[in-house]
Amino acid sequence: MTKFQRPDCVSLDAADALAALREQFSLPNDVIYLDGNSLGALPKSTAARVQAVVTEEWGRGLIRSWNTAGWIDLPSRVGNKIARLVGAAPDELVVTDSTSINLYKVLSAALAIARVDSPQRRIIVSERENFPTDLYMAQSLAAQHGMQLELVEQGQALSRLHDDVAVLLLTQVNYRSGVLYDMAAVTAAAHAAGALTIWDLAHSAGAVPVDLGGAQADFAIGCGYKYLNGGPGAPAFVWAHARHVNRVEQPLSGWHGHAAPFAFTPDYQPAPGMARYLCGTPTLLSLAALECGVDTVLAAEPFGGMQALRRKSLALSDLFIRLVHEQLSAHPITVVTPIDAARRGSQVSLTFDGDGYAVMQALIARGVIGDFRAGDKTRGDADLLRFGFTPLYLRHIDVFDAVQTLRDVLDSGLWREARFARKGAVT
Ligand SMILES: *Cc1c(COP(=O)(O)O)cnc(C)c1O
Repeated sequence: MTKFQRPDCVSLDAADALAALREQFSLPNDVIYLDGNSLGALPKSTAARVQAVVTEEWGRGLIRSWNTAGWIDLPSRVGNKIARLVGAAPDELVVTDSTSINLYKVLSAALAIARVDSPQRRIIVSERENFPTDLYMAQSLAAQHGMQLELVEQGQALSRLHDDVAVLLLTQVNYRSGVLYDMAAVTAAAHAAGALTIWDLAHSAGAVPVDLGGAQADFAIGCGYKYLNGGPGAPAFVWAHARHVNRVEQPLSGWHGHAAPFAFTPDYQPAPGMARYLCGTPTLLSLAALECGVDTVLAAEPFGGMQALRRKSLALSDLFIRLVHEQLSAHPITVVTPIDAARRGSQVSLTFDGDGYAVMQALIARGVIGDFRAGDKTRGDADLLRFGFTPLYLRHIDVFDAVQTLRDVLDSGLWREARFARKGAVT
């Protein structure tokens, strides 16, 4: 196979039907941004929209804007937009709180259902390498409900689904390895074993096509600030299948989840439908910013939507993997994300036999932003260099230039400079 060259990438970009979507973003010229899986890029529309909400809707409209500017409808309006990206029906998904908090709500609801339908089931199954906040929230709930959280190694959950398992809690795309699960197949297997499923879509929404309804999943949550470009700390979303939503309450019974919040009655009555998953007053400025971010993903709909974004995402990550193999073979770098595209989300993770943290810091200093995730050494997990491929704003030349820069950092030994070994508070 002949080696891939930069002009090949220029040609691919020229033929890319999604190329214009990059214009939606305000990106620094001197940066190649491969961390949209941690914090999405800034849409050009966001600053003006937030400014209008502040000066017009808040400054002039004051409290009237809850009605006149439609503030009160924003959690469901933005929810309905996200629903289009994850295969949910209208009014099945709301935007509220954080991913961690929404997990608390849906896991509580799932445990309440299990308590009625199958009280002998006392186990929540998840993976040791799931994102820690998911595990921490599940630990707390398991303790409160007198149940147990059992952690299995990645990919082993289905073999643990015996008749003592109440809930299977999985993240569809693993934040470390980038491994993607077949939601429909895993959900069907869980249901056949009598367990409910909770899917964390933090690295799926806006990254891979998701069909919650088609998969007959039970509950889902997801993140607003990753591939949905909602901005730092953007609110998250929550979905429950229609067969469950009115059956149980969630425990964070704030007034916005009440059937009639503005009746101001002393007794809690959950709203019918997903509104019961709301809690307190929505964070309006963040919600307005999130809507701009979600709109950048919906802008792909005329070009084939999530299916087209998925094709480009895989083209970019395939190219990255190929270039890593072609250009970095002299260095102790290994691709840990599945080579099989059907099992890969929108990121690629590498291991480096050496100080991977310093390599990533040197790479960032050279304008290529990925990130570093330390492995659990007590379990022999490797440290990872993570690279997210956001098809909305990345070009094939960015992938080429990023690998070239990584090669320079490794060939020159730049990463060995002492300044790259110092750790910041956030890695
Ligand atoms: C990013 C991420 C979260 C983030 O949760 P927050 O409540 O927003 O901090 C949760 N779960 C997974 C799987 C994630 O990747």
